[in-house]
Amino acid sequence: MSTVRGGAPVIDLHAHSTVSDGTETPSQLLASASAAGVNVLAITDHDTVGGWDEAAAAAAEHGVGLVRGIEVSCTWRYASVHLLGYLTDPHDPDLTAALARARESRATRLQRMVDKMAADGIPVTYDEVLAQVAPGATPGRPHIADALIASGVIAHRDEAFREWLTDDSPYYVGHWSPDPIQAVELVRAAGGSPVVAHPFTRTRSGGLTDDLLERMAEAGLVGLEAFHRDHGPEEIARATALADRLGLVVTGSSDYHGSGKLNRLGENTTTPEALAVIEARSSGVTQVLRP
Ligand code: AMP
Ligand code: ZN
Ligand code: FE
Ligand code: FE
Repeated sequence: MSTVRGGAPVIDLHAHSTVSDGTETPSQLLASASAAGVNVLAITDHDTVGGWDEAAAAAAEHGVGLVRGIEVSCTWRYASVHLLGYLTDPHDPDLTAALARARESRATRLQRMVDKMAADGIPVTYDEVLAQVAPGATPGRPHIADALIASGVIAHRDEAFREWLTDDSPYYVGHWSPDPIQAVELVRAAGGSPVVAHPFTRTRSGGLTDDLLERMAEAGLVGLEAFHRDHGPEEIARATALADRLGLVVTGSSDYHGSGKLNRLGENTTTPEALAVIEARSSGVTQVLRP
């Protein structure tokens, strides 16, 4: 295991690979985690468990602990909600079916977004976008940005998001996704521990309401990701107070996307106590891998 800073292990419970919209393969991601001094990393690709096996082999090779997870895209009253699901059974039929449906709908939706952009003179084709998606990976808006980078239109993903890709852009098209309460139930039924990702990210809709989070807690939610770069002191305080009131743990993570975002591995972390609750509340079908 890599160096433990100040005696406490560095636990980072949210990171993406090329199996969704990160820029590093699962193997490269675990190598980066090791180099960054992360002791336990969660791989949480959008709507897929496709990176788990490669990540597990690389975690063993690099001496990094691994929490296998997913980040489920959900929709609530036209707002997007992201739910982390840790340690689910990768063969659970209902969760597997929901994730497959979301991935298919994501592909159709990207094609429609690209068509709208092209019709408006933005030089991008769906084939160019598909060339940016690894085989079998979950396609997302960052791959449209990558196609525009590949053809020299922009230099960084962030420019594409600022110009064309936000939720309130005229080119935005949604995709099928479960509602957040359904998603909590799906993750629970698959033996996993659900945690709301960056609950108070500032969005057009103002983020999640306490009322929805209460209902998710009743459905079996385990935690709130309080420590995330999208949260300032106010959002962290709100998440911590709400977690206390609802009996949830708080977690922290980098939400690393390789070179696709500024987020650095280990920039926010989770306590061993919170990870222990996440483990204890899961069925044990999928275990935390420790070196
Ligand atoms: P989608 O999954 O297609 O809805 O796209 C959302 C993804 O885009 C999220 O996972 C974010 O990580 C990524 N994203 C959002 N804003 C930006 C940005 N400004 N720069 C790079 N990536 C972004
Ligand atoms: Zn992402
Ligand atoms: Fe997210
Ligand atoms: Fe994420």
